[in-house]
Amino acid sequence: MNLKILILPGDGIGAEVTSAAVDVLKAVAKKFDHTLELSEGLLGGVAIHKTGTPFPKETEELCQKADATLMGAVGLPEFDAAPPSQRPEAGLLGMRRVLDVFANLRPVRTWPALVDSSPLKNHVVEGTDMIIVRELTGGLYYGQPRGIDENRGFNTMSYTRKEVERVTHTAFKLARNRRKKVCSVDKSNVLEVSQFWRKVVIDVAQQYPDIQLEHMLVDNAAMQMVLRPTQFDVMLTENTFGDILSDVGGILAGSIGMLPSASLGETKGLYEPVHGSAPDIAGQNKANPLGAIGSVAAMLEYTFGLMKEATAVNDAVGKVLESGKVTADLRPKGKPATTTEVGRAVSEAI
Ligand code: NAD
Repeated sequence: MNLKILILPGDGIGAEVTSAAVDVLKAVAKKFDHTLELSEGLLGGVAIHKTGTPFPKETEELCQKADATLMGAVGLPEFDAAPPSQRPEAGLLGMRRVLDVFANLRPVRTWPALVDSSPLKNHVVEGTDMIIVRELTGGLYYGQPRGIDENRGFNTMSYTRKEVERVTHTAFKLARNRRKKVCSVDKSNVLEVSQFWRKVVIDVAQQYPDIQLEHMLVDNAAMQMVLRPTQFDVMLTENTFGDILSDVGGILAGSIGMLPSASLGETKGLYEPVHGSAPDIAGQNKANPLGAIGSVAAMLEYTFGLMKEATAVNDAVGKVLESGKVTADLRPKGKPATTTEVGRAVSEAI
């Protein structure tokens, strides 16, 4: 099979983790006899430096041509004071919108070799295997009107029926191949938009009588994720709540550097680790590349339907974790491995 993939390294540790992930992709292609058609583009701060805009037209065209896009991370401290529309993150939001990747899947699992890496007690995190389905192209991050002046800053959280329906279908279909449970997270005790969200989710659920649906308020969901994470199978939520709750997932998995993600639309797939550009460790070969490598596994599964290949990547990650060759964020007993060493170990295990 020919795999046509766009690589967007982005800023900070983005370039380091995507480089390791591309090596893994090459190892899989070699082992399973696929051809890789890779292209590379600019996104985020690096794109602002070179072209004056965080999401250049050329990048948009490259995204449209590729079957799937692998992104590192965007964000540079020098843009912290810039208005949202001129920050590197605007590039990522623009790309998600253009590709119309409305469902962001964020698997959170506690690998047996990493139960000691979570700051939570082992018996709490052991066996955690959940997937957060975050709506990605609506809600507060895109809602109009929005603005800022001397005396007021404001944003709008708004959802249409279509936006809620399509992401809800994604969550229910995923649950069918898992433990058949969906927990929809909202703030319907305070927000009208959440009352609407809940009503539409209940309507869609009529088509999935085999799936058990429950609803949880977002504040309680944050608490339940650290109290009893094993209760969750598929967690469905809107854009902002999903952004925040998935960082809690980093605690369950041992490090935010462990978490992959897949953003899916009707046709396109965008794959990226959950973490940001981590300016505090950028350029030091210290970043954990396993979130980016897990995103490659997700790409093989969701865009290309290559289950054997995806499993080979995940099994290789499991083996490397068992071997103890991990980066500093996972608090290894011995000397921490570098980003390059972990990437190479996964490629070799494949
Ligand atoms: P961050 O995820 O970059 O970092 C948070 C903490 O986690 C830091 O201490 C960092 O060192 C650590 N960390 C993150 N990824 C790691 C990895 N792979 N290995 C080891 N440690 C890792 O979040 P932040 O500090 O809040 O944001 C930094 C910049 O990234 C900001 O500009 C922000 O807007 C941007 N950001 C981008 C994305 C994205 O591109 N999807 C997501 C979140 C934040």
